[in-house]
Amino acid sequence: MNYDVIIIGAGPAGQSLACRLNDAGLKVALLEKQPETAIAAPQYDGREIALTHLSVKILNKLDVWKNGMQQHATEMLGARVIDGTSDHTLAFERPDQQLDALGYMFANQWIRQHLFERTKTLTNVELICGQSVSDVRTNKEQGVVCLEDGRILTASLVIAADSRFSQIRRMMGISAEMNDFARVAIVCRMKHEKPHQQLAWECFHYGRTLAILPLSDNECSAVITLPADQAAAVQEMSETEFSADVQRRFGSRLGNMELISERYA
Ligand SMILES: Cc1cc2nc3c(=O)[nH]c(=O)nc-3n(C[C@H](O)[C@H](O)[C@H](O)COP(=O)(O)OP(=O)(O)OC[C@H]3O[C@@H](n4cnc5c(N)ncnc54)[C@H](O)[C@@H]3O)c2cc1C
Repeated sequence: MNYDVIIIGAGPAGQSLACRLNDAGLKVALLEKQPETAIAAPQYDGREIALTHLSVKILNKLDVWKNGMQQHATEMLGARVIDGTSDHTLAFERPDQQLDALGYMFANQWIRQHLFERTKTLTNVELICGQSVSDVRTNKEQGVVCLEDGRILTASLVIAADSRFSQIRRMMGISAEMNDFARVAIVCRMKHEKPHQQLAWECFHYGRTLAILPLSDNECSAVITLPADQAAAVQEMSETEFSADVQRRFGSRLGNMELISERYA
């Protein structure tokens, strides 16, 4: 089969691009290795994404934002940054009082689900799920993509949207510079006693960083970034110990804190 564009990977990047190319009238194949059921109903994975106004503008253009997505967003009114044990707080407010927020918090799961709702209506995009790519080759005329079931697809352009450790990029011999900081992020949802006032906090405690991001009423996402060799110990803490530790490191600004989800590393 021949297409104008083949996109490999139906995550937020691949699906957003497919929506735009569809509107431009191009014939697109969107390949995803997971089964369609998995991308139609993505599971919660702990990621809460801070969307900027530019991202919202793009999602608006794709008819995704106002068509259901907006209701799932939490407005982030401002952000506070703390350096070590300093009492000083660096404050970020809305750049323009006419804007309703500095940015929006949104679970990655919902970004994927809302994009999929739009993707499945696209008439110029063929979604091929549950297939891994066994080979990709390009020459001056075209790109050739071989699927594991033996199908061969061709296109004028092949897009590797298979995430940051892209196997497709490697298969095509394109190098990337990577910097391994040997750090792990542990993410989870917590509830707390005092309202977060829709503020995001980033606490740069030396050696370990703690971000507290506002979700719905008296709930937040905690993101702990720490050296990889300390991650297992944090994952093994009891729920009570973990909650008390986060509360202490955050200086009890939100009162008592309690873990209410799994911890994802
Ligand atoms: C804790 C956390 C917080 C984050 N917060 C933010 C934030 O606040 N703001 C922000 O902008 N970003 C944030 N990010 C980053 C953001 O989640 C990613 O940048 C984004 O999800 C990347 O989307 P993607 O479509 O490129 O990749 P992915 O979401 O990884 O999707 C890639 C897709 O490609 C598929 N795939 C992989 N290999 C193949 C293959 N060989 N063949 C076919 N399909 C394949 C996968 O199954 C997957 O569906 C955060 C990330 C984490 C972990």
